[in-house]
Amino acid sequence: MRVELPPTAGVPLRWGDLVPRGESDLAAAAAAWLGTDAALLTGSGTAALVVALEALKTLAPRRRTVAVPAYTCPLVPLAVARAGLVPVPVDLAPGHFDLDPDALAAAVGADTLAVLPTHLAGQVADVEAACAIAARHGAFVIEDAAQAFGAARGDERVGLAGDIGLFSFGVGKGLTIYEGGLLVARDPALRAALREAAARLLHPHPLRETKACIELLGYAALYRPSLLGLVYGRPLRRALARRDVIAACRDDVGLGIPLHRPGRWRARVGVRALARLRAVHAAAGERAARRVAALEALPGVRVCRGVPGSVPVWPYLLVQLPDETCRDAALAHLWPSGLGVGRLFAHALPDYPFLRGVVPAAAVPHACDFAARTLTIGNSLWLDDARFARIVDVLRQSLCAIAETGAG
Ligand SMILES: *Cc1c(COP(=O)(O)O)cnc(C)c1O
Repeated sequence: MRVELPPTAGVPLRWGDLVPRGESDLAAAAAAWLGTDAALLTGSGTAALVVALEALKTLAPRRRTVAVPAYTCPLVPLAVARAGLVPVPVDLAPGHFDLDPDALAAAVGADTLAVLPTHLAGQVADVEAACAIAARHGAFVIEDAAQAFGAARGDERVGLAGDIGLFSFGVGKGLTIYEGGLLVARDPALRAALREAAARLLHPHPLRETKACIELLGYAALYRPSLLGLVYGRPLRRALARRDVIAACRDDVGLGIPLHRPGRWRARVGVRALARLRAVHAAAGERAARRVAALEALPGVRVCRGVPGSVPVWPYLLVQLPDETCRDAALAHLWPSGLGVGRLFAHALPDYPFLRGVVPAAAVPHACDFAARTLTIGNSLWLDDARFARIVDVLRQSLCAIAETGAG
């Protein structure tokens, strides 16, 4: 079996994590870890967003739209639509994953229920800027920290600067119980609204829970380079062979959004894995620091980072190349190679065929450019220096090939 590195640095599980006893209040453990005193566990990050929006609707029933980054997880607009609201795609700042302040100011108005600043790749978005714009129009701010559990700004973890923070414990998001999500809010009235919406919307689903338990066992067994090819590498290479970029990015999400609470066994596994998260983050941060420097020594290559002074987590490196041609040349070699290199989301939201009818058409040139020029390098513990050097070599050759074509 060939070696297959994961596209993101997850927390590998130990067999001891799977023992069915011990603390099972993952919401309380995660809240304490984040430095707040309560949190709400949901079946996924998407379900957390549905609950958050339904809660906000009870507080501002006449507001109909939600401003989302034009380059984000396609589940986000589906959750907005599931809550009976309209997602408004907002363009990114040029060459960055964060919302463009001017585009956001133009998109937010009296009809806006919420704005979703989004921390991608474990990097910290400018939530304060989004809060300032939202406040002018009385809109709420939901921090989408699905990819950034544990990142911080100053001495505060992300998720607590807006009105509501949401996290994902889905597979591929770092700490995982295969499917799971978390909601936090500081304001007691908002917390009560979230609890009320969760009680109304989330229900036990024994069949789905059994499936998720089996999948979590599968993750425990297969999240290692010797076996990951079976469940991740093979489907990826099949998707690439038929040029299905959306499937290769695992963006081919189902349109239904399951709304159920994770059971106690999976929650226990999460509590045990959480105890190791700080060490996992520290090691990932050290690897990333060395590698960012090596990548940025290549001409025109940049690694995306959040607001100055913030403390990111590094599930993967989000790398921007000079143009789409050299990005695609690099991916032609690296994506099928088993080195954990790939793409984040396939398209800007208005460009997904399956979101037509959900996401209104919009000109979002910076989001399209970002989708076209970026690739991801998984920052797992198995990406050793020799393998990383192979990735850098391919990137260098892709850049040279472009330079030569340009000169000729
Ligand atoms: C994955 C993701 C979500 C959805 O989380 P799930 O747990 O997969 O439902 C939302 N927003 C962003 C930015 C994500 O990456």
